[in-house]
Amino acid sequence: MLSNLDPTPSCHKTLLRSDALYQYMLETSVYPREPEVLKELRECTSRHSWNKMATSPDEGQFLMMLLKLMNAKNTLEVGVYTGYSLLCTALSLPSDGKVIALDIDKEAYEIGAPFIVKAGVAHKVDFRDGPAMDGIDMLLKDESNHGFFDFIFVDADKNNYLNYHKRLIKLVKVGGLIAYDNTLWNGALVASPNDELPKYIRYYMDYILDLNQTLAQDSRIQISQVPISDGITLCRRLI
Ligand code: SAM
Ligand code: CA
Repeated sequence: MLSNLDPTPSCHKTLLRSDALYQYMLETSVYPREPEVLKELRECTSRHSWNKMATSPDEGQFLMMLLKLMNAKNTLEVGVYTGYSLLCTALSLPSDGKVIALDIDKEAYEIGAPFIVKAGVAHKVDFRDGPAMDGIDMLLKDESNHGFFDFIFVDADKNNYLNYHKRLIKLVKVGGLIAYDNTLWNGALVASPNDELPKYIRYYMDYILDLNQTLAQDSRIQISQVPISDGITLCRRLI
């Protein structure tokens, strides 16, 4: 893993250079504003073996801000796990809003489902169990879904992000947003060949590199690479 304390003077502007600063940010600006039910879900998830997969609370706060700014009403999530980002979404939608949530792991979703109920937002959540590609292809079959979604959050199998992109660009409305998560991939994108990287980081790295290149060249979208958490690339559909 690369150090986030690299003092290279080549002047990246990221201020978040230390764990202490991250902790400061969480304690000052994130935790005090985190809805109680999200905190409970986060704490419950932290006892689960794959808890590292969960969306971080600062990223959750960012997603909630985006959704509110956009007045998002119809959204899609690809990759739910125990539902931290899903609950952030459901809490941000109006009462007649909907989030369709796709994941192959129903058991993980069921860990978080009681918190969705407790938050009083279960009526906004449509969880669909199964491979996301099938769920997306099913949505595409119905023409009324084309250009229907205000916001799509993609946080599942990284090797398929580009395959998802080909499809999701049809589902998001013009002016709507697709957000791809983990696009800075633990800093590994700039690792040298000799750097020791966890196996899964190395395995998916080329897919993320390819994704980032492709999104940067895709004239159908405006993009912004936001270095929050593990990096999130916002893609606003232009045409
Ligand atoms: N957004 C979640 C959160 O806020 O906690 C984290 C999602 S986690 C990083 C990735 C999820 O993608 C896992 O729950 C996994 O089951 C799911 N996933 C992986 N491959 C998938 C596929 N082909 N179809 C559907 N879900 C998949
Ligand atoms: Ca993620």
